[in-house]
Amino acid sequence: MEYKYTGIVLSKRDVGETDRIYTIYTLEGGKVRSLAKGVRKSHAKLAASLENVTLADITIARARGLGKITGSIVENNFSSLKQDLDALTETFAGLHIFDKLVDYENPDPQIFVLLRSYLEAVDCLAAVGGVEKQTLLRLGFLVKLLHALGYALEMNCCVACGEILSENFLHFSSQAGGVLCEHCSQDSDNQALPIRANAVKMMRLFLKNNMTTLAKIQASREDCDSARLVVDDFLRWTL
Ligand SMILES: [Zn+2]
Repeated sequence: MEYKYTGIVLSKRDVGETDRIYTIYTLEGGKVRSLAKGVRKSHAKLAASLENVTLADITIARARGLGKITGSIVENNFSSLKQDLDALTETFAGLHIFDKLVDYENPDPQIFVLLRSYLEAVDCLAAVGGVEKQTLLRLGFLVKLLHALGYALEMNCCVACGEILSENFLHFSSQAGGVLCEHCSQDSDNQALPIRANAVKMMRLFLKNNMTTLAKIQASREDCDSARLVVDDFLRWTL
């Protein structure tokens, strides 16, 4: 049986003498793995259209198990992204976490669109955006991904008492999944991390806007770092 997918190549792994196993996030089938035979031979044409971070129309022949990739036509190889080291480093970090968070064969068109629009936004800002902008895009992508996967982050009210948040002495509790107010910070979670008020606002914007709009957010390095610390902590707690 032959299956046709629109997919984004997440990672690849060498197996045997000349083969590779690819992990691909597809619109039709969610995250799938499949084998490409002979793809490491010097004359193999398939390899170029299956580079990591490539959007392609991929054909897989499968009766059971991994099946075999029989064809791939590139739709977007995100060439600007791949020529910008900062963009590439941030994107690989983002895709690595994406791969860990997303289950196999659980299709979700909303998540496919999010992943594609993240890569398009990175590609668009590559070479002009600078490393901070790329970090901001990665954080925005991950916060939106967590939300889409059902990890609801409370960024508007105190996650412990429900009070509207002031801008003072805010903390983020990964365990509780949101921001703690000044009063609850001390007794609710002693591992909660301080978070800047602007970083809380930035994370609200992540949840409200699409990736194209996120690319326009102007944030200082301190605010970006503050958001990065809590997102990383939440991911450590989640994964
Ligand atoms: Zn509170």
